[in-house]
Amino acid sequence: MKVFTYQRPGAAMDAVAAARIPESRFIAGGTNLLDLMKLEIETPAHLVDVNSLGGGLDKIDAAPNGGLRIGALVRNTDLAADPRVRRDYAVLSRALLAGASQQLRNKATTGGNLLQRTRCPYFYDTNMACNKRQPGSGCAAIGGFTRNLAVLGASADCIATHPSDMAVAMMLLDASVETLTPAGQARVIPIASLYRLPGNTPQHETNLEAGELITAVTLPAPLGGTHIYRKVRDRASYAFALISVAAVVLPDGSGRIALGGVAARPWRVAGADAAMKNGAAAVATQLLAGARPTEQNAFKLTLVQRTIASVLNDAKKG
Ligand code: SF4
Repeated sequence: MKVFTYQRPGAAMDAVAAARIPESRFIAGGTNLLDLMKLEIETPAHLVDVNSLGGGLDKIDAAPNGGLRIGALVRNTDLAADPRVRRDYAVLSRALLAGASQQLRNKATTGGNLLQRTRCPYFYDTNMACNKRQPGSGCAAIGGFTRNLAVLGASADCIATHPSDMAVAMMLLDASVETLTPAGQARVIPIASLYRLPGNTPQHETNLEAGELITAVTLPAPLGGTHIYRKVRDRASYAFALISVAAVVLPDGSGRIALGGVAARPWRVAGADAAMKNGAAAVATQLLAGARPTEQNAFKLTLVQRTIASVLNDAKKG
């Protein structure tokens, strides 16, 4: 691991000021960043530990919009177990519980979960070319082992997927991400605008500025309906999604739907929400429009179609 300096400020404004030091990274739970540092994939010169920030960043509060404001430091375990989340945003609770392991969820935070980095195996192997890790070096995944990689929104430079389950539910719920910019300005980013597709700059995964701190995530007022999160993976726990489906289905059959494990960001398409009353095939057609699978991961398209059918069928049962 490369040598780094360390700072533990007590206020969010102090944290963004501290992160102005070049090559700084924020650290909260550290469940992804520490692994990346040990492998020297991430080599920050300065770590800004945000675990002691005040201001209620570890709290879940009622929001003025009738929803919930979730502090960025709320641990995944606490968010999944919150009675308001379980009652009104069950898809979020279920997505959280589908992720990682109990030990990791005890440490992982809301803000950090959103900013997890891909689990593309070539990203983690510093002997292999990877445009995300080292821009311009190439992409060893293309033409390599692609079973777990993207079928939608990929580019000639990167076909990685986003690993978060929580983010898929947040996308479904139209969450808003609150931040503090490096200049100390508060801003709100709709989650649909948070993530970038790889294009020819896969090293840029979000629209956050360098040194911009996530302070909270706000959920809109509850949608009602039946909430389902279905994750399909190679083993029953502690594995990333091959694909996942998050859905909220209202009594009249309308609703919304999103996919995980298929692209560099949670995948939601307005046409799929509009097609919810028309059945699973119509919804899948909308979500998978433009899909470009490899030979090894073409099975994901069938898996998505069948999982959507299963989810919508279960939703009818309530
Ligand atoms: Fe790197 Fe993306 Fe290629 Fe994986 S798919 S090796 S993360 S550039």
